[in-house]
Amino acid sequence: MGMAEALQVLLRATADWLQLEQRRGIHSIVVNEELLRSVAHSGGIHPQAQPVRHSFKEPVTMDSKSPKSRKITIGLETSPEVSPAQNPIRRPASARLDDMEMLSREVLPCQLCPHLAQSRKQVVFGHGNLNAALMFIGEAPGMEEDEQGLPFVGKAGQLLNRMIKAMGLDREDVYIANVLKCRPDTPGQAYGNRKPTPEEMERCNPYLLRQVEIIQPRVIVALGATALQGLFGNPNESITRSRGKWRSFRDIPLMPTYHPSYLLHKESVPDQAMIEKRKVWEDMLSVMEKLDIPISAKQRGYFSQ
Ligand code: SF4
Repeated sequence: MGMAEALQVLLRATADWLQLEQRRGIHSIVVNEELLRSVAHSGGIHPQAQPVRHSFKEPVTMDSKSPKSRKITIGLETSPEVSPAQNPIRRPASARLDDMEMLSREVLPCQLCPHLAQSRKQVVFGHGNLNAALMFIGEAPGMEEDEQGLPFVGKAGQLLNRMIKAMGLDREDVYIANVLKCRPDTPGQAYGNRKPTPEEMERCNPYLLRQVEIIQPRVIVALGATALQGLFGNPNESITRSRGKWRSFRDIPLMPTYHPSYLLHKESVPDQAMIEKRKVWEDMLSVMEKLDIPISAKQRGYFSQ
């Protein structure tokens, strides 16, 4: 049995045990990648040892802190269901895990932007559910993301988490990535972030495209002008003009909306902040409709006067 096949069998066998754990109230476990490999190599799992349950869907969460310490978290799906009919081109979860793993091995040591490779603490690969129906794409890691190796973990990330919660989802239900995987350098400055250059985004873009191809989300949300510019390779993209209007990216519906940092920036003027937050919430309601997520009267009424 090849390694990929053995890993697939191991994942499926683990599925039954995870369902038992879920009934016991445990919703995720951490699996050491090297252990998985050694088990797969050992051939100790027999393909017929555990039946595959058709009802089981194995979402996969990948933390990419460093190539050595990376861990794979496997949990039971709580995200909106994507049926094969809705997404016929999506590969099985185990194949997507393999693909994403292979991609992360390529990205984590990337030196294509020598200045960023030198200044970064770590590459911020992306994080979330490989089974996600919804993918958020931002611009680039900031200082906190660079520290933690995860996207959207600072104040803007907390606001994004609240938006996701308000949609009735959890951060672990979605996938989050940036158009640039390394923190843009700010020579001479310990604090502050800068916008990625078009050249940097162009260099990094193939990685994001492959993430999109692997996950095949049903909907993408582009957060802010820079994400839009990076995705479409057009520095003239305007978030003010595009916000709230459906676009198509690689045949996937894409909703452009404001970056959470912009909303935080507006908080110094509460009335304006409320107006802008309401616009973003309207965009999220459109996303929920597109994903067939039921919308309650309370959700519809957020921000209504
Ligand atoms: S920003 Fe992207 S292309 Fe540039 S070094 Fe980092 S991972 Fe590589």
